[in-house]
Formats: sequence, C-alpha cells, structure tokens
Amino acid sequence: MSQESSAAAVVAQGIGKTFDTKAGDVQALTGVDLAVTAGEFVSLIGPSGCGKSTLMRLIADLDSPTKGTLEVFGKPPAQARRDQDYGIAFQQAGLLPWRTVGANIGVALELHGMAKAARRERVAELAELVGLTDFVDSYPDQLSGGMQQRVAIARSLAEQPRLLLMDEPFGALDEMTRERMQAELSRIVGESGAAVVFVTHSIPEAVFLSDRVVVMSPRPGRITDVVSIGIEREVPRDEALRERSEFFAKVTEVREALHGGKVGSGAREGR
Ligand code: ADP
Ligand code: MG
Repeated sequence: MSQESSAAAVVAQGIGKTFDTKAGDVQALTGVDLAVTAGEFVSLIGPSGCGKSTLMRLIADLDSPTKGTLEVFGKPPAQARRDQDYGIAFQQAGLLPWRTVGANIGVALELHGMAKAARRERVAELAELVGLTDFVDSYPDQLSGGMQQRVAIARSLAEQPRLLLMDEPFGALDEMTRERMQAELSRIVGESGAAVVFVTHSIPEAVFLSDRVVVMSPRPGRITDVVSIGIEREVPRDEALRERSEFFAKVTEVREALHGGKVGSGAREGR
C-alpha cells in the first residue's frame, strides 16, 4: 500500500466534501476513491455541479476534504504544494496583464529565485514548446484567447511538475482552436511525462486526451464510472485519431456512462 501510494500521483480514498452555507449543508462530494498513477492522463467529466472543481481544489490544496484521505505523490497535498509537485491551469488563463508573456511564463521561477539568465533560457524553451516564441515580449491583451491559454499552460509547466491540474483549460476556446490545443497538450504532456488530472465537459476532448475518463454525477457528487480508453499515448495522439473507429467507440462508451446507460439504439441523441 505505502509503496503503491508513493508511486501514484494522486490517491483519494473515501473523499467527502460538505460546504457549510447559509442555506444549509451542500454535499459537494461523497465517497470518492481515485488513484492516478505517475504519468497517467485522467479526465473528470460530468454535469455542472457534480464536484469536479471541488475535487481539483482539494488535490491542489486550495481547500480540504471533510472526509477521507488524499495523497499527492505519497504526501499530504499541502506538502506537495510546498514541494511544487504540481502545476495548475484553470479555465481563466489568469495572466498578469502588466507582465509580458515571458514574465508571465517565468513568474514562479522568479518567485523561487532562479537567476535571470537561467530564467530567460527556461522561458524561451517553454515559449517554444507552446509555439509562442515570437510573442515573449508581447502583453497578454495582445494575444487571442487560445494564445493566452497556451501561456497559462507554459507557466504551469515551468517548474517541471510531475502533475498537472487542469480545470476546463480550453472551455473558453472555439472548437477549432480547442482541437489544436488538445493535440498540442497531448504532445507536450507526452514530452514532459507528467501525470494530468483534467476537467472537461467535452466527451471527445476527454477521450482524445486521456488514459482513463472518470464519469461523475451530482447530488451528491460521486464517481459513477471509469472508462479506460486503451489507445496508446507513447506516440502523441493527433488529428487522425478523431477518425478512428476506436475513438468513436470510446466516445459512445463515455456518453452512455454519462447518461447512465444506453442512449437510444445507437441512434444520435435527440435535442
Ligand atoms: P463542477 O466543477 O463539477 O461544476 P463544483 O465543484 O464547482 O462543480 O461544485 C459542486 C457543488 O458544490 C455545487 O453544488 C456548488 O454549488 C457547491 N460549491 C462549490 N464550492 C462551494 C463553496 N465554496 N461554497 C458552497 N458551495 C460550494
Ligand atoms: Mg467546475
């Protein structure tokens, strides 16, 4: 057990989270068991309010569970946070508008005292990774939404975290940009070898990116299904995957899990 948890990126056991509100208790999560192995890509999918962001916040030590135990690389989340074991990218890019792209990417490096020359080198490397080499001296408001999101991803990778926590990072992007970002993320994550916990509302996005898709349901938020995708990630996934029959089969499997059973008889969903 202890060996297993030291190898795992995240181990959640019996996690519950209840919010104490003026209107009464809100049970956001109950009985959540989840283990994410090192280097694994796991997506959380489920309707609004099923506790996806809450679970992410618990893993990131931005809040604490009311029940159960949570370990990140075998440590309490607060320790993992101090050790900079994970990087975070959420729906809002959350860039500092008065800083250049390069200074945004390198903000944590600066905070943690990396010397200027080394920092410049690392920032250049990261900017190249996300295809923003020509924009390091630009300011966030000079970039499109997709580019800002790439800055946020580069920033989250700056300290080579073993774990990335991403909560709907592409939620605000148009479909074409979004698909391109998915392919890029797949490549970047493949190169870095980091484990990822990724929240999305999009079934194809979850299937395209993940080793496993965790399906959640609300009131109270819990895990109802886990779908193993079983498509290799060693070779980065690319656009061709979207046309493959295994891809469609997995999209259907996740959709059925999300709807709690078969949807029609293979027919398209009604509207
Ligand atoms: P999701 O990200 O899946 O849409 P959330 O994790 O944001 O869901 O929310 C799960 C439930 O917990 C919702 O009912 C939400 O209203 C409630 N909730 C989340 N954060 C708080 C909070 N800080 N205080 C009170 N209720 C909260
Ligand atoms: Mg959310």
